[in-house]
Amino acid sequence: MAKKRVAKKKLTRKKTKPEWPVTRNVMFRPERMKYVRRLIRPEGCVFCHALKEGVSPESLVLCENGQAMLMLNKFPYNSGHLLVLPKRHNGEFTEMTDSEMRDVNELMKIGVEVLTEAYRPGGFNMGLNLGSVAGAGIPEHLHWHILPRWAGDANFYPLIAETKVVIETLEQTYERLVPLIESRMTESRGLKSGHRQGAKS
Ligand SMILES: [Zn+2]
Repeated sequence: MAKKRVAKKKLTRKKTKPEWPVTRNVMFRPERMKYVRRLIRPEGCVFCHALKEGVSPESLVLCENGQAMLMLNKFPYNSGHLLVLPKRHNGEFTEMTDSEMRDVNELMKIGVEVLTEAYRPGGFNMGLNLGSVAGAGIPEHLHWHILPRWAGDANFYPLIAETKVVIETLEQTYERLVPLIESRMTESRGLKSGHRQGAKS
Protein backbone atom coordinates (compact mmCIF):
# COMPACT_ATOMS: atom_id res chain seq x y z
CA MET A 1 0.00 0.00 0.00
CA ALA A 2 1.30 3.38 -0.90
CA LYS A 3 1.98 5.53 2.02
CA LYS A 4 -0.61 8.19 2.29
CA ARG A 5 0.88 11.48 1.48
CA VAL A 6 -0.17 14.23 3.70
CA ALA A 7 0.55 17.57 2.22
CA LYS A 8 0.85 20.13 4.87
CA LYS A 9 0.29 23.41 3.23
CA LYS A 10 0.73 26.49 5.23
CA LEU A 11 -2.50 28.30 5.66
CA THR A 12 -1.11 31.58 4.57
CA ARG A 13 -3.24 33.66 2.32
CA LYS A 14 -2.12 35.87 -0.47
CA LYS A 15 -2.96 39.30 0.59
CA THR A 16 -2.77 40.73 -2.86
CA LYS A 17 -5.52 38.52 -4.30
CA PRO A 18 -8.85 38.68 -2.52
CA GLU A 19 -10.86 35.46 -2.47
CA TRP A 20 -14.16 35.01 -4.20
CA PRO A 21 -16.62 36.56 -3.70
CA VAL A 22 -15.10 39.98 -3.63
CA THR A 23 -18.38 41.64 -2.97
CA ARG A 24 -21.88 40.28 -2.60
CA ASN A 25 -25.15 41.01 -0.98
CA VAL A 26 -25.61 39.26 2.31
CA MET A 27 -28.98 38.35 3.72
CA PHE A 28 -28.71 37.93 7.46
CA ARG A 29 -31.23 35.34 8.55
CA PRO A 30 -29.67 33.72 11.63
CA GLU A 31 -32.89 31.89 12.49
CA ARG A 32 -32.48 29.92 9.30
CA MET A 33 -29.20 28.45 10.43
CA LYS A 34 -30.94 25.51 11.99
CA TYR A 35 -31.86 24.48 8.46
CA VAL A 36 -28.28 24.11 7.39
CA ARG A 37 -27.92 20.36 7.32
CA ARG A 38 -24.26 20.17 8.15
CA LEU A 39 -24.73 21.76 11.51
CA ILE A 40 -27.23 19.19 12.66
CA ARG A 41 -26.12 15.67 13.50
CA PRO A 42 -29.06 13.95 15.16
CA GLU A 43 -28.53 10.66 16.92
CA GLY A 44 -30.20 7.58 15.48
CA CYS A 45 -32.71 7.57 12.65
CA VAL A 46 -34.78 10.75 12.62
CA PHE A 47 -37.57 9.04 10.68
CA CYS A 48 -37.88 6.16 13.12
CA HIS A 49 -37.81 8.71 15.92
CA ALA A 50 -40.62 10.69 14.28
CA LEU A 51 -42.66 7.52 13.84
CA LYS A 52 -42.25 6.73 17.51
CA GLU A 53 -43.40 10.23 18.44
CA GLY A 54 -46.52 9.77 16.32
CA VAL A 55 -48.67 12.24 14.45
CA SER A 56 -48.02 15.72 15.81
CA PRO A 57 -46.70 19.13 14.82
CA GLU A 58 -43.53 18.34 16.80
CA SER A 59 -42.76 15.12 14.96
CA LEU A 60 -43.87 16.75 11.67
CA VAL A 61 -45.79 13.55 10.85
CA LEU A 62 -49.03 14.51 9.11
CA CYS A 63 -50.64 11.10 8.82
CA GLU A 64 -49.96 7.41 8.51
CA ASN A 65 -51.58 4.38 7.01
CA GLY A 66 -50.74 0.71 7.53
CA GLN A 67 -47.08 0.68 6.58
CA ALA A 68 -46.19 4.21 5.52
CA MET A 69 -46.33 7.77 6.76
CA LEU A 70 -46.48 11.27 5.39
CA MET A 71 -44.50 14.05 6.99
CA LEU A 72 -43.08 17.52 6.44
CA ASN A 73 -39.46 17.73 5.39
CA LYS A 74 -37.62 19.44 8.23
CA PHE A 75 -35.32 20.99 5.65
CA PRO A 76 -37.78 22.18 3.02
CA TYR A 77 -36.68 23.34 -0.37
CA ASN A 78 -40.04 24.99 -0.84
CA SER A 79 -43.08 25.51 1.34
CA GLY A 80 -45.05 22.28 1.44
CA HIS A 81 -42.06 20.01 0.83
CA LEU A 82 -43.32 16.59 2.00
CA LEU A 83 -41.78 13.19 2.55
CA VAL A 84 -43.46 9.81 2.19
CA LEU A 85 -41.72 6.86 3.75
CA PRO A 86 -42.23 3.29 4.79
CA LYS A 87 -42.44 2.84 8.55
CA ARG A 88 -39.91 0.04 8.39
CA HIS A 89 -36.29 1.15 8.75
CA ASN A 90 -34.90 0.08 5.41
CA GLY A 91 -32.60 1.70 2.88
CA GLU A 92 -32.91 -0.92 0.13
CA PHE A 93 -35.50 -0.14 -2.51
CA THR A 94 -35.44 -3.72 -3.78
CA GLU A 95 -36.51 -4.91 -0.35
CA MET A 96 -39.72 -2.91 -0.39
CA THR A 97 -42.70 -5.22 -0.20
CA ASP A 98 -45.71 -4.87 -2.47
CA SER A 99 -47.89 -3.80 0.42
CA GLU A 100 -45.36 -1.20 1.52
CA MET A 101 -45.25 0.18 -2.02
CA ARG A 102 -49.03 0.31 -2.09
CA ASP A 103 -49.15 2.28 1.16
CA VAL A 104 -46.36 4.63 0.02
CA ASN A 105 -48.20 5.25 -3.24
CA GLU A 106 -51.42 5.98 -1.43
CA LEU A 107 -49.72 8.67 0.64
CA MET A 108 -47.90 10.06 -2.39
CA LYS A 109 -51.26 10.60 -3.99
CA ILE A 110 -52.75 12.19 -0.89
CA GLY A 111 -49.69 14.42 -0.55
CA VAL A 112 -50.13 15.75 -4.07
CA GLU A 113 -53.85 16.21 -3.52
CA VAL A 114 -53.53 18.29 -0.37
CA LEU A 115 -50.62 20.33 -1.69
CA THR A 116 -52.57 21.08 -4.83
CA GLU A 117 -55.51 22.23 -2.76
CA ALA A 118 -53.44 24.25 -0.29
CA TYR A 119 -50.82 25.84 -2.52
CA ARG A 120 -51.88 25.51 -6.15
CA PRO A 121 -48.34 24.83 -7.35
CA GLY A 122 -47.51 24.81 -11.03
CA GLY A 123 -45.99 21.34 -10.79
CA PHE A 124 -44.17 18.84 -8.59
CA ASN A 125 -40.89 17.04 -8.30
CA MET A 126 -41.56 13.63 -6.84
CA GLY A 127 -39.08 10.90 -6.21
CA LEU A 128 -36.54 8.95 -4.28
CA ASN A 129 -32.83 9.59 -3.92
CA LEU A 130 -31.37 6.12 -3.51
CA GLY A 131 -28.03 6.21 -1.72
CA SER A 132 -26.02 9.14 -0.45
CA VAL A 133 -24.18 9.64 -3.75
CA ALA A 134 -27.58 10.17 -5.34
CA GLY A 135 -28.38 12.86 -2.83
CA ALA A 136 -30.18 10.98 -0.07
CA GLY A 137 -29.68 12.86 3.19
CA ILE A 138 -30.66 9.80 5.23
CA PRO A 139 -29.87 6.84 2.94
CA GLU A 140 -30.55 4.19 5.58
CA HIS A 141 -34.30 4.88 5.61
CA LEU A 142 -36.01 5.22 2.23
CA HIS A 143 -38.03 8.39 1.74
CA TRP A 144 -39.77 9.86 -1.27
CA HIS A 145 -39.91 13.61 -1.78
CA ILE A 146 -42.94 15.54 -2.90
CA LEU A 147 -41.77 19.00 -3.80
CA PRO A 148 -44.25 21.57 -5.05
CA ARG A 149 -42.82 23.86 -7.70
CA TRP A 150 -43.74 27.27 -8.97
CA ALA A 151 -42.42 29.04 -12.02
CA GLY A 152 -39.33 30.95 -11.02
CA ASP A 153 -38.98 29.43 -7.57
CA ALA A 154 -35.37 28.35 -8.02
CA ASN A 155 -32.76 30.66 -6.62
CA PHE A 156 -29.05 30.46 -6.06
CA TYR A 157 -28.99 30.02 -2.32
CA PRO A 158 -29.07 26.21 -2.27
CA LEU A 159 -26.26 26.11 -4.79
CA ILE A 160 -23.82 28.24 -2.92
CA ALA A 161 -24.80 27.93 0.69
CA GLU A 162 -27.06 24.90 1.13
CA THR A 163 -29.54 27.31 2.52
CA LYS A 164 -32.94 28.17 1.19
CA VAL A 165 -35.20 30.93 2.31
CA VAL A 166 -38.67 29.50 2.73
CA ILE A 167 -41.51 31.90 3.26
CA GLU A 168 -43.61 29.76 5.57
CA THR A 169 -42.69 28.12 8.87
CA LEU A 170 -43.05 24.38 9.32
CA GLU A 171 -45.75 25.01 11.89
CA GLN A 172 -47.76 27.07 9.43
CA THR A 173 -47.41 24.40 6.76
CA TYR A 174 -48.48 21.71 9.20
CA GLU A 175 -51.54 23.65 10.33
CA ARG A 176 -52.49 24.31 6.74
CA LEU A 177 -52.25 20.70 5.59
CA VAL A 178 -53.66 18.74 8.52
CA PRO A 179 -57.30 19.79 8.02
CA LEU A 180 -57.08 18.86 4.35
CA ILE A 181 -55.72 15.44 5.21
CA GLU A 182 -58.35 14.95 7.88
CA SER A 183 -61.11 15.71 5.42
CA ARG A 184 -59.77 12.96 3.18
CA MET A 185 -59.59 10.55 6.07
CA THR A 186 -63.23 10.94 6.81
CA GLU A 187 -63.98 10.30 3.18
CA SER A 188 -62.89 6.67 3.32
CA ARG A 189 -59.31 5.73 3.26
CA GLY A 190 -58.88 4.62 6.83
CA LEU A 191 -55.88 6.80 7.46
CA LYS A 192 -54.68 7.52 10.94
CA SER A 193 -53.86 11.14 11.31
CA GLY A 194 -54.35 14.52 12.80
CA HIS A 195 -52.82 16.13 15.81
CA ARG A 196 -56.31 17.00 16.96
CA GLN A 197 -57.02 13.41 17.78
CA GLY A 198 -60.02 13.17 19.99
CA ALA A 199 -61.35 16.53 18.86
CA LYS A 200 -64.46 16.28 16.76
CA SER A 201 -65.05 18.92 14.17
ZN1 LIG B 1 -35.39 4.62 10.33
